[in-house]
Amino acid sequence: MIYKGSCHCGKIAFEVEGELAEATACNCSICSRKGSLLWFIPRAQFRLLTPEGNIRTYTFNTHHIQHTFCPTCGIHPFAEATDPKGTPTAAINARCLEGIDPGALTVKHFDGRAL
Ligand SMILES: [Zn+2]
Repeated sequence: MIYKGSCHCGKIAFEVEGELAEATACNCSICSRKGSLLWFIPRAQFRLLTPEGNIRTYTFNTHHIQHTFCPTCGIHPFAEATDPKGTPTAAINARCLEGIDPGALTVKHFDGRAL
């Protein structure tokens, strides 16, 4: 299945291939502020449809995770990093996907604050 996603104004738009069954709610310092529901997928299943230059990136702490956001509307639609095996991974904010009912997703709670 292909999901379409975007920021609020549309300057960042993307497609994700996969089956969204469950999402992760993390309580770390940034996720708790964003309120995002994360869907982790291999980066290869993610395709950016808008120019790379429309994206701004925020990093903190170890600077391992690239938290992307739109400088126009301020929405954080996804983040990028590598998983422990070195595979490029995207963490999609499931709330930015079209046709998703966030209330219908199985949500797994991750204690990111403890890391
Ligand atoms: Zn935007």
